[in-house]
Amino acid sequence: MVREEEKGIPVRVALRCRPLVPKETSEGCQTCLSFVPGEPQVVVGNEKSFTYDYVFDPSVEQEEVFNTAVAPLIRGIFKGYNATVLAYGQTGSGKTYSMGSTYTANQEHDPSVGVIPRVIKLLFKEKEQKQDWEFILKVSYLEIYNEDILDLLCSSRERSSQINIREDPKEGIKIVGLTERSVSSEQDTVSCLEQGNNSRTVASTAMNSQSSRSHAIFTICIDQKKKNDKNSGFHSKLHLVDLAGSERQKKTKAEGDRLKEGININKGLLSLGNVISALGDENKKGGFVPYRDSKLTRLLQDSLGGNSHTLMIACVSPADSNLEETLNTLRYADRARKIKNKPIVNLDPQAAELCRLRQQLQELQVLLLQAHGGTLPVSINSMAPSENLQSLMEKNQSLMEENQKLSRGLSEAAGQTAQMLERIILTEQENEKINAKLEQLQQHAVCKLDLQKLVETVEDEELKENVKVICDLQQVLAQLQSENAGAMEAAAEVESSEQDAAAEAEMGHDTKRSSDDFSTHHALRQAQMSKELLELNKVLALKEALAKKMSQNDSHLEPIQSQYQTNIKDLELEVSSLQKEKEELVLALHMTKKDVNQAKLSERRRKRLQELEGQISDLKKKLNEQSKLLKLKESTERTVSKLNQEIREMKTQRVQLMRQMKEDAEKFRQWKQQKDKEVIQLKERDRKRQYELLKLERDFQKQANVLRRKTEEAAAANKRLKDALQKQREAADKRKESQNRGMEGVAARVKSWLANEVEVLVSTEEARRHLADLLEDRKILAQELLQLEEQQKAGENPPLKLRRRTYSLADVQASEMDISMSKQIESLKTEMDLRSAQIADLQQKLLDADNGDRVKQRWDSIATILEAKCALKYLLGEV
Ligand code: ADP
Ligand code: MG
Repeated sequence: MVREEEKGIPVRVALRCRPLVPKETSEGCQTCLSFVPGEPQVVVGNEKSFTYDYVFDPSVEQEEVFNTAVAPLIRGIFKGYNATVLAYGQTGSGKTYSMGSTYTANQEHDPSVGVIPRVIKLLFKEKEQKQDWEFILKVSYLEIYNEDILDLLCSSRERSSQINIREDPKEGIKIVGLTERSVSSEQDTVSCLEQGNNSRTVASTAMNSQSSRSHAIFTICIDQKKKNDKNSGFHSKLHLVDLAGSERQKKTKAEGDRLKEGININKGLLSLGNVISALGDENKKGGFVPYRDSKLTRLLQDSLGGNSHTLMIACVSPADSNLEETLNTLRYADRARKIKNKPIVNLDPQAAELCRLRQQLQELQVLLLQAHGGTLPVSINSMAPSENLQSLMEKNQSLMEENQKLSRGLSEAAGQTAQMLERIILTEQENEKINAKLEQLQQHAVCKLDLQKLVETVEDEELKENVKVICDLQQVLAQLQSENAGAMEAAAEVESSEQDAAAEAEMGHDTKRSSDDFSTHHALRQAQMSKELLELNKVLALKEALAKKMSQNDSHLEPIQSQYQTNIKDLELEVSSLQKEKEELVLALHMTKKDVNQAKLSERRRKRLQELEGQISDLKKKLNEQSKLLKLKESTERTVSKLNQEIREMKTQRVQLMRQMKEDAEKFRQWKQQKDKEVIQLKERDRKRQYELLKLERDFQKQANVLRRKTEEAAAANKRLKDALQKQREAADKRKESQNRGMEGVAARVKSWLANEVEVLVSTEEARRHLADLLEDRKILAQELLQLEEQQKAGENPPLKLRRRTYSLADVQASEMDISMSKQIESLKTEMDLRSAQIADLQQKLLDADNGDRVKQRWDSIATILEAKCALKYLLGEV
């Protein structure tokens, strides 16, 4: 074996941090690791930093890890070095992913392929290039489970029984009974890997459902000889180890068998750690290395002996919920490297400022949280405007209600008016008919008989009585007619007053404009139509009156007319007789001219003639006048008939209007019914939502109270820890001062120191508990947030399209609910942020309190037996 470089080859450590996995993000976990660009350094919390040979942040791909950290080892193999790659870390931190131990052949070109398949590929590539060398490659694959070795390449059931580890002074560690497969190609090797993987013991725990609870070691032995030089040759071994999860037992919630497993796994890991530190410790060079403590270390003895390139890939999760385990891994890896003096982090000024600010922000957030006693009120600064809005909304609502009431009343009134009008029209029609009948009766011959005369002339008693009855009837008829005229006038008055009322109603309506568009519209239309109707009625009444008057005039004129006509006839007759007389006279005159005696007579005749002529012309004038009067009468008759025509038209118009009004009212009634139904449905839905909201709020409040209590407790723990640390520091200073003083102080000093130490321990434990609580809280909060967000998304879709114009009450309340929902989401988010800040804060404190070498310091501070006695006395007293 080649041992010349024994001193120069340290164990190399690569830190690999995986990205946050979906489970962690869904629990609201934050990243608690930061990386220094260009430096192989990782910073935990704010200031605790670790330096390794390589540090791979979450963005680094498999290929880069392989090329930078693993590939050099493979090259060393061809020079005869043994090599080992160990993946260490808690379950779920990415060991298997990094090692690629679940590789199958069909993943060949996948970029996420891990170390083992890449190693195999590179080995065979290098081998190809060394044509003048002869290679013999052998593969074995085993698993250490519960401190038993299982051969993964052996198909038989009792794999573990025949396997023994023997130490051969010449060949080193030999595993008797382990299958070794000779392989000549990449495919051969990969199929061995696949076969082994299938036989691996995989059991699930609370941490990782596929967590491997065993250490898996894939070994490739390489014998190489130069073809023409039989004396030169190397024998090297390459171990690729996927260790079991390094987490502490309680975290996996394991019990029984699983717990036993855990203990055994940790036994291997613990002794591996011890071996690593023993090998790396400068002071213990050449001292005892405890290989035999576990099978794992025994098996790896060859490769950890110093002539091996050993790479430990320490895998960690960046989530703050895993901080404790991450810190353990970092310390373990640090021990493996054995770098005692921690390098100072040289951050550039900008980054340092950023870091400082971030820390300040965190502290402020914690302070804020404490000030509010654990929860933030849902909205601190939006209080005033929301109140304002509230009152406005209320006002708006009451106004809308009033408006609705009013328009309802209006439309009812309009409906009633319409009904009344209809009734009026009907009665009017009836009235007209009756009037017509009355008229007919009056025209009847009975009325024209002069009964009085008849009574006087008639002798028969019976007949007399009958005639008297008829006379009474005549009187009743006359009375009826006069009454009728009075009623007509009264009706006209009523109509006009009605019209006034309608006008008033409209006025009132105008001042209170409703937002309930449809019903208002309807009411307005009704009002408008009844107004039109009234107008029509008015005009109708006027026309009717006019027509009546005219026809009355006519009837007055009629007797005059007939009289005139007889007059005219008389006159004409007279005229013609006069004319005759005149002619006779003229003739006589002629005759008498011859007869002088008759001169006197003729004189008289001439005079008479003149007289007659004057009479004739008078009569002609009268005639003319009479015919003029007749013409006038004709024209009035025409106008009356025209008026009657108009009245008829108007009446039909009125009936149409009535019908329309009725239809409208019916339509409105239907619409309203439907609306009412909708409103009831909406109200029901609204009530349900309101209830849900209330429930949510109540739950929220309850949770908030619990959270507040927890926060207060955490804050108290935090403070206690801080105080304890402070005291401890002071005590340490004091101790240094009083170191040289006499014995008398010893007891008191030890006592106060121990009291302090206990206080620190207790408060650390308390803080840790609260930390766990906080992590749990945040998980719950994150889940709630997700739920709420989903609910909001689900609720958003429907209401927008439904009736944009009429903004109903339910809509307003629905949007209110949306607002409160998003408010809750907002507050949940802040809660989560605060929780994260608190977690970070507590973790920082714990980091400060838990300096890795505290235990050592503790024992260092008890230097004498006396001190030890005092300490024991105090402790027993405390117990
Ligand atoms: P372990 O073997 O340590 O228990 P795994 O290798 O099974 O953990 O990894 C746990 C989960 O994290 C797996 O789903 C894996 O895909 C994922 N993972 C681990 N490391 C990375 C990485 N560097 N990039 C992306 N995903 C990773
Ligand atoms: Mg694994």
